[in-house]
Amino acid sequence: MTADPSVTPSTLTLDNVRGWITSFHTLVTEQKAYLTELDSAIGDADHGTNLSRGMDAVATTLDGAAPAGIGELLKGVGMTLVSTVGGASGPLYGTFFLRFAASAGDAGTLDGEAVGTALTAGLAGVVARGKASVGDKTMVDALTPAVTAWGDAIDNGATLTDAATAARDAARLGSDSTMPLVARKGRASYLGERSAGHLDPGSVSTTLLFTALAQALP
Ligand code: ADP
Ligand code: MG
Repeated sequence: MTADPSVTPSTLTLDNVRGWITSFHTLVTEQKAYLTELDSAIGDADHGTNLSRGMDAVATTLDGAAPAGIGELLKGVGMTLVSTVGGASGPLYGTFFLRFAASAGDAGTLDGEAVGTALTAGLAGVVARGKASVGDKTMVDALTPAVTAWGDAIDNGATLTDAATAARDAARLGSDSTMPLVARKGRASYLGERSAGHLDPGSVSTTLLFTALAQALP
């Protein structure tokens, strides 16, 4: 399908960002049991409950709030996740949003390149905090290819909608690639070889994050 530039967004607006977070909340709520089931195989069976508790708190905080810009909105999201999610994923997702927010600053809209810069900052924050590399069987295995796919799509002149779709598809492939891996970071690494043969739960929720972004940029 060829995108018509007259009807596809050329910038990510504050409303799009609100839609992104709302869609992520919805998807995490819908997939809560599945995420927890994945974490029961190689972790402590709480990834779905952790993330849905965090996103419920985010929704409550955002309800009625009128942030002036994208940075302010996502800073609130990040701080809420850090303070309400007990597991490793809370500080990691929280850091992603805090770094994205800092990169966005007080902008009310971001073009594709600026979104790419903010996504790259978010990924760098997750890596600085969790010290995981691609192949360690973590959310970084989905986040890294998604951020790369976004940047490549924008460099090739894609619309934001197509860039988000490309990022979502890359996240899903990255997540699928965690199946045979032996975990080297996080709780799953305690299992050693027995962690192989299961998807990493955080990589699956990261695919939901980019599915939500694609939904927010129809
Ligand atoms: P916990 O492991 O504390 O129970 P969750 O179950 O909510 O927290 O989240 C687990 C997910 O967090 C993993 O599937 C993995 O994707 C991610 N994760 C754990 N440790 C790291 C790390 N050091 N770097 C990146 N991601 C990590
Ligand atoms: Mg867990």
